[in-house]
Amino acid sequence: MSETAIEFVHVSKLFGHGKNQIRAVDDVSFKIEKGKTLCLVGESGSGKSTTGKMVAGLLPPSEGKILYKGKDVSTLTHSESKQFRRAVQMIHQDPYASLNPIRSVAQILATPLQHHHIVRSKPELYRKMEELLEIVGLTPPRDFLFKYPHQLSGGQRQRVAVARALTVNPELIVADEAVSMVDVSLRVSLLNMMLRLQKELGVTFLFITHDLAVAKHFAWEGQLAVMYLGRIVELGDTQDLIADPIHPYTRALITALPEADPVVTRTKKRLILRSPDIPSLLNLPSGCTFHPRCPLYEEGFCEIERPASDVVNINGHLAACFVEARKRGQEDRIPEFVRFGGVKV
Ligand code: ADP
Ligand code: MG
Repeated sequence: MSETAIEFVHVSKLFGHGKNQIRAVDDVSFKIEKGKTLCLVGESGSGKSTTGKMVAGLLPPSEGKILYKGKDVSTLTHSESKQFRRAVQMIHQDPYASLNPIRSVAQILATPLQHHHIVRSKPELYRKMEELLEIVGLTPPRDFLFKYPHQLSGGQRQRVAVARALTVNPELIVADEAVSMVDVSLRVSLLNMMLRLQKELGVTFLFITHDLAVAKHFAWEGQLAVMYLGRIVELGDTQDLIADPIHPYTRALITALPEADPVVTRTKKRLILRSPDIPSLLNLPSGCTFHPRCPLYEEGFCEIERPASDVVNINGHLAACFVEARKRGQEDRIPEFVRFGGVKV
């Protein structure tokens, strides 16, 4: 039986006060099964990092519940909370900023290993550090142990960041734009290294990227959630979502993939946005917040009410679009007053 690693139940995160208050994350629900991958994809400012930080326990939600192995994280005891923070590790976009420049790779790895009493002797420490470097593909390990971050390439630094996250045997890794700063030529091998980790160590992944091509590669066997202005507008198994994208925003993102991508050639439902501009979270459009950019926009139907994230539900493949709900025979899932052009009946 599958076991849920982490679950968001109607989670929102608000920042600021009064007129300046925004909902960086707005009513987001999802779950990730143990050992599986969920990838959040969306433009900058869509709330991906805020979601990631809440998963890692670095930010509390303003509304809703976060369950870790079925337990509300806000009610964990002190020792359970410590255990949770250790079980969930985060890898950031810029390893240069997250790795201390005056510490060698050995020092970076030794600190958590000793602090958490994962190793008990010097020989054991070195064995463990070498094993971790092998796992992340920094071989032979002895060539890397005594190097400093500035002596490594971007891809190698990111591998060190992954090795450091692995020191504490995490159950869940949040990788936020972990390959974005790495040279394109090294990106695939870094992605493949993380994929291998996931398979071999059974680590659960929340993988965050603004790049759908990267998302597709990493989460091919998992799930994708497309975020737009703080909401999940589409969620489903990656292969279903790519083969039959429901939300017009997802379809526009797929259209924007490089032409050589076979997925684009296969997907006939190409869509071009009406406007390239993302609205401000301080001044959101009414109804579906995507409507000013949406090629499927219908006046008197789309700007009335914000569609729920699951207004379209095709065997668990969810999307937040009234037009598609109607097209796909799910009209009964649309609130009545929306169907009747805003007239409350
Ligand atoms: P993404 O990672 O998708 O680019 P973020 O989660 O970083 O998006 O940000 C979502 C929105 O929340 C943005 O408008 C951002 O400016 C805002 N935001 C993020 N963190 C904070 C914060 N600590 N205080 C105020 N606003 C924030
Ligand atoms: Mg971000």
